[in-house]
Amino acid sequence: MTIRTRVAPSPTGDPHVGTAYVALMNYLFAKKNGGQFLLRIEDTDRTRSSLESEAVILRSLRWLGLSWDEGPDVGGPHGPYRQSDRGHIYREHADQLLESGHAFRCFCTAARLDALRQSQRAAGLPTHYDGLCARLPAAEVIARVAAGEPHVVRMKVPTEGVCRFEDMARGVIEIAWNTVDMQILLKSDGMPTYHLANVVDDHLMEITHVIRGEEWISSAPKHQLLYSYFGWGMPKLFHLPLLRNPDRSKLSKRKNPTSILYYERMGYLPQALTNFLGLSATSSSEGEELMDSAALIEGFDIANITLGGPIFDVAKLDWLNGRYLREALSADAFTEAVAAWAFNPTYLNQVAEMAKTRITRLSDLGPTAAFLFAGRLGLTADQLGDGKVARESLVMAFHLSTVGFDRLPAWTSAEVERILREVATVIDVKFKDFVRHMFIAITGRPQSLPLFQSMELLGRDICRERLREAIATLGGATEGQRKAWTARWDEAAREEVVES
Ligand code: GLU
Repeated sequence: MTIRTRVAPSPTGDPHVGTAYVALMNYLFAKKNGGQFLLRIEDTDRTRSSLESEAVILRSLRWLGLSWDEGPDVGGPHGPYRQSDRGHIYREHADQLLESGHAFRCFCTAARLDALRQSQRAAGLPTHYDGLCARLPAAEVIARVAAGEPHVVRMKVPTEGVCRFEDMARGVIEIAWNTVDMQILLKSDGMPTYHLANVVDDHLMEITHVIRGEEWISSAPKHQLLYSYFGWGMPKLFHLPLLRNPDRSKLSKRKNPTSILYYERMGYLPQALTNFLGLSATSSSEGEELMDSAALIEGFDIANITLGGPIFDVAKLDWLNGRYLREALSADAFTEAVAAWAFNPTYLNQVAEMAKTRITRLSDLGPTAAFLFAGRLGLTADQLGDGKVARESLVMAFHLSTVGFDRLPAWTSAEVERILREVATVIDVKFKDFVRHMFIAITGRPQSLPLFQSMELLGRDICRERLREAIATLGGATEGQRKAWTARWDEAAREEVVES
């Protein structure tokens, strides 16, 4: 049997280091065992998925040095590899389950489901579907479908007993069936949910090992049931522990940047990041931690992955990256890496566009544009606070700016400016006064190259990091303050909608 693994990202945002970690574990496991590694795009959530996000995820994983034997961009015998292109396959499989009586059509309205949830909550019960439509007479179902009544397809789930399944890392896991909901398989628009699409695809794509994040453990009973309803063997499961911050909390943007793009823009080498992510699952004979892809495959053993969760320790990544620069790169390779990072014609042309009208000699370029070739700026509180906005307001304004930036679908100078204008209104200071502080936080000076264009070029991740640093330098903010500020902003935005 050929071992086949896959990574199945949902293209709903920036490429997450967690996705890179899961992808790498699947890749290493397959390669170590002479198997194949696939990439599948799980874009069943049509409102949140985008082709732009898909493209960035694929590019980031390739940047890290990963390659896949089959996938949406390279094709393969089990395609298409994008779930939105496989709708008919899921509908056929849902039909099979309806015919075999393992699934049923559910006509319940959102209002009924809401009321049901509320009454279950009031009675202190877990909220789930009560099976009303599973008991409808067949003739009534036919009539209601013929009349065009909107409905979903749900799977039947036992109401008693315990589901047992094997996890390669944890042994047998038991989950009581009465905690498992009668999952919707097909939505009213005919699109599948994750559960149906995932099981059907893993089977049709001949996946032998499902290695995924531990947040999916609670989905395993539904999946196991679907495999048995279809009469298929189930792939082996390995639920990976989540990456953690050094304080052991779940990796979060607040404490550590989570986008692969950040690490790329910050100037980490892809081989250092891959090496770093692979360390928790590999061992080398002499304890050497600098490992290229071949060494990672060689030293990989899934048994090395412990359940405590690998720590995403940026200090360690820094150390490793430094070693790569010092020990592993020739001067030529170093030059190539720097060019790929920011000294390439595409980037330099954009810098030139802004800088050439503002300098007299080429030698002015370094001091003028240095902030476009830097990560954090290491500014002091006095520098950041040099202007008219009071410290507390400034921390709030920087926080709201990061919230606004995170919500932007497109990172353009016009959108950046729009957010900053909104923030200035909320904190009730003149835009010009607020922008002065923003200038300092982003460029390191009160005046510099055009701010919004510079921010577009620097990218969302570096701007976010500079603001994160600025907030910390200015004394930081508690979780409660951040929440209250964001709520106040959302409130102001709602009032504006009502007024207009
Ligand atoms: N699309 C899911 C995700 O985004 C995949 C989960 C799985 O691997 O089954 O993580």
